[in-house]
Amino acid sequence: MYYLEIQKIIKKYSSIIIFHHVNPDGDCLGTQFGLKELIQDNFPDKKVYVIGDSNNILSFLDFEHDLVPNENILRESLGIVVDANFTNRIKNSELITQKKIKNIIRIDHHIEDDDLEPLYSWVDPSYCASAEQVAQLAIKLKWKISKKAAAYIYLGIYTDSGRFFYDKTSARTFNLVSELLKTKFDVQYIHNNLSKRNKEEIIFQKEVLNNYKTEGNTIYYYLSNKKSKKLNISDNNRNRVDFLANISPYTIWIFFIEQDNGEIRVRLRSSIHDIHQIAIQYGGGGHEKASGATIKNKKQIAEVVNKASIISS
Ligand code: AMP
Repeated sequence: MYYLEIQKIIKKYSSIIIFHHVNPDGDCLGTQFGLKELIQDNFPDKKVYVIGDSNNILSFLDFEHDLVPNENILRESLGIVVDANFTNRIKNSELITQKKIKNIIRIDHHIEDDDLEPLYSWVDPSYCASAEQVAQLAIKLKWKISKKAAAYIYLGIYTDSGRFFYDKTSARTFNLVSELLKTKFDVQYIHNNLSKRNKEEIIFQKEVLNNYKTEGNTIYYYLSNKKSKKLNISDNNRNRVDFLANISPYTIWIFFIEQDNGEIRVRLRSSIHDIHQIAIQYGGGGHEKASGATIKNKKQIAEVVNKASIISS
C-alpha cells in the first residue's frame, strides 16, 4: 500500500528535504509545512528541512523556510516533492537536476507524469489537494497530528478545494477535515485571514470588472505591466483569476498576466469544461478545471481565447 511504502522510505533517512512548486499557493505550502510537522512529531530523531520561498503569501501562517543544507546532508537525504511534477515546476529543482539530492519521492494530485525518476511516486488526481493526500497518509499510518500540522494541512485542503466548492471535494475530504478539526486548531483564524480584503484588491477588482473581454462563453482579462504599475498592484494580487469566476453565462475564465521578460502567464479556470487540454498545448498543465501555462507574446492571447471559446460554446 502507498502509505506503508512511503513510511518505509521515510524511516530509512535521517534527514528529509521537502520541496514546493514555483508560484507557491496554499496547497503546496500547507502540504510542505504540514508534512514537516507530521514527520518531526512522529519521528523525532529525523531532521526535516522545508526549502523554497513563500513569496510572502499567506504570511499569517508563518511559512518560514529553512536554508538549503550543505551538500553532505543533501547527498544522504530523502527529497519529498509535494504538489508538483516536472523539475521546471519545482522550486530549488537544481538540487535535483544536478543530482545533489538523488532519492526523491513524489506526493501529488496533478494529472501529469514527472521527470524526477522517483524512488516512489504516489500520484492520485482524485484528491482535491496534495494536503488531502498528506492528511490521508497521517490517518492511515495512525500518526499523531498536532494542532500546528492540522492548521497547515487544512489550509491546503481549504484553498485547493476552492473552500470545498470544486467537484473533487468528497466524503473523504470531509472525513479527513473532521479528523483535523478534532485537534482543535484555530480554524476561524484561517477563515478570517483568507477572507480579509484590502483597498488595493478592490481597486484592481473594479478595473478587472470594468475591462474584461468576452468571446462566446469565455471571459478573460489581460494585465499589462504598465497597468499593474499604474494601479500599484502588488505581485501577490496580480494573479486574481478568481475575480472572473462564475459570472453567468461564462463557463471558462482566463487571466493573462504580463511578466517582466515579456512572456505572459495564463491562468485558466472552468466550472464545467476541460481546459487542461488547452494548457498542455502551450507546455503548461494542471488539472481538468484549473490549469496554467506561459505564452510567448500578446498575439497568442487571441489564439488561447479562441480555443477556449470553441470548447465553451
Ligand atoms: P495556476 O493558475 O498557476 O494557479 O495553476 C493552476 C494549476 O495548474 C496548478 O495546479 C498549477 O500547478 C498548474 N500549472 C500552472 N502553470 C503550469 C505550467 N506552466 N505547467 C504545468 N502546470 C502548471
